[in-house]
Amino acid sequence: MTSGTRASADQPSDSAEFDYVIVGAGSAGCVLANRLSADGKRTVLLLEAGPKDTNIWIHVPLGYGKLFKEKSVNWMYQTEPEPGLDGRQVFQPRGKVLGGSSSINGLLYVRGQHEDYDRWRQRGNVGWGYDDVLPYFKKAENQTRGADPYHGTGGPLTVSDWRHDDPLSEAFVKAAVEAGIPFNKDFNGATQEGVGFFQTTTRRGRRASSAFSYLRPARSRGNLRVETDALAQRLIFEGRRARAVDYRQNGVVRRARARREILVSSGAYNSPQLLQLSGVGPAELLQRHGIDVVLDAPGVGNDLQDHLQVRVMMRCAQRVTLNDVVNSPFRSVMAGLQYAALRKGPLTIAAGTSGAFFKTSPRLATPDIQIHFIPFSTDKMGEKLHPFPGFSASVCQLRPESRGSLRIRSADPAAPPEIRINYLATETDRSANIDAIRMLRKILAAPALKPYVVDEVEPGANVVSDDEILAFCRQRGSTVYHPTSTCRMGSDPLAVVDARLRVRGIDGLRVVDASVMPDLMSGNTNAPVIMIAEKASDMILQDAG
Ligand SMILES: Cc1cc2nc3c(=O)[nH]c(=O)nc-3n(C[C@H](O)[C@H](O)[C@H](O)COP(=O)(O)OP(=O)(O)OC[C@H]3O[C@@H](n4cnc5c(N)ncnc54)[C@H](O)[C@@H]3O)c2cc1C
Repeated sequence: MTSGTRASADQPSDSAEFDYVIVGAGSAGCVLANRLSADGKRTVLLLEAGPKDTNIWIHVPLGYGKLFKEKSVNWMYQTEPEPGLDGRQVFQPRGKVLGGSSSINGLLYVRGQHEDYDRWRQRGNVGWGYDDVLPYFKKAENQTRGADPYHGTGGPLTVSDWRHDDPLSEAFVKAAVEAGIPFNKDFNGATQEGVGFFQTTTRRGRRASSAFSYLRPARSRGNLRVETDALAQRLIFEGRRARAVDYRQNGVVRRARARREILVSSGAYNSPQLLQLSGVGPAELLQRHGIDVVLDAPGVGNDLQDHLQVRVMMRCAQRVTLNDVVNSPFRSVMAGLQYAALRKGPLTIAAGTSGAFFKTSPRLATPDIQIHFIPFSTDKMGEKLHPFPGFSASVCQLRPESRGSLRIRSADPAAPPEIRINYLATETDRSANIDAIRMLRKILAAPALKPYVVDEVEPGANVVSDDEILAFCRQRGSTVYHPTSTCRMGSDPLAVVDARLRVRGIDGLRVVDASVMPDLMSGNTNAPVIMIAEKASDMILQDAG
């Protein structure tokens, strides 16, 4: 068997065999673990580099702010200096815990546009059109509003309305309607366009991560083994067939053999990293790091895409913001008690309360911008809220043209990879952000928000021209945490997996997570990743016969 590495000092101490070995217990990996072990006929090993999800802040929605820089559950990556953002490095939190990023994310449940999936299908990915994927969104879902043609009930993933009455979030919705954006009750229904309230992946006020929704109900199955603090170091091949995974746990390297398949679900950064470390990637890169080439696959790590977020921050005229709750010991205690007793109130705030999807140009067929509105303000996400009453709304261009890459820095599996996103690299991306900020300012100036606005803290009244707005985007733009497409699905020479998510040119190996998206869909990525894993589970079981 080949390990992909010439000089492997670590020889595995033991070897166990399973039908399926899944690498990564994130949004996708937990779905696979549940579905593949459900009938009790096959043995499944789920490897997770992080710990169990015992940190209490994982389960409280507002806790995502506390986990942002919590290294016990977070990979805490950084990009390389970004040329389009004045050479700044952009912090990239990723979940490193059971549930993966679904345990630390902002909880918003947004599927994207029907047209996203039809575009995937048009690019040759048979079985990924909107009509094909809708049944999997519904299968996953336990929609608390009840079932309808777009929504399912009884699935593992509970999707709920927000449990807090917030005058500011309501005023934002009214202001957007006044600015000409239609009200939309359901961003995941017939059409995404409009303004309304986000739904979240929560169950009775607590986070519904994929670990909570999919793994917990399956944990007692005798045919499912879950190993935490287990870092997969490399895949082991026989010729071009994937046979085993070497992983390090408590300082010991162990080998897990897969009778049927290895499923890599390590996320958009770690999946291509693991393939490259194992000898599947651009030959020149692997050789530079002393890794034997199993398959020259130049697309592995290519086509990295992410959503940029640019926040506009307002000083509020009334003490109704989360800043005011957090900055008052009395109101903080009351919010804690309200949450403890009723699972309601400010502690249920997710990464956005209300939001909007609109087009920056009438020539577009569907919205190209998403707004996240949130009743607090801070200089940097995950840091202290402002000492004054404040709120924010961010613009996010939904289908950026800019493309980046993910490359290993060395053959050391513990070394963080080199991440380049190349935000704002194209004229379309730059002008969409400028136009979106102008549109957002129109909403923020509408009558319904007037009683709440003192002034614009950032970018500020002196930032007016296109050049000034673009300069602000470069100075302050950051990520919405949606990296995708680094092991892209397709049939062209740079595509890494086929439409059944099998790594092209290798047997017994699939990638199932955000990295397989043919391109970034128009919304938040958690629900689509769960849909992908639901569909992959069916394909894997069908292929097993
Ligand atoms: C801060 C933040 C906020 C977000 N907000 C939202 C939101 O509000 N709504 C939304 O829809 N999406 C949101 N997202 C994005 C969404 O959560 C992710 O797109 C999605 O969870 C990705 O799923 P995945 O399965 O591809 O990867 P992940 O869920 O990241 O899972 C990968 C797993 O693999 C493990 N792993 C990695 N390498 C190895 C290895 N070598 N060995 C063993 N295990 C390994 C990781 O530790 C992790 O548990 C957010 C993400 C973040 C980080």
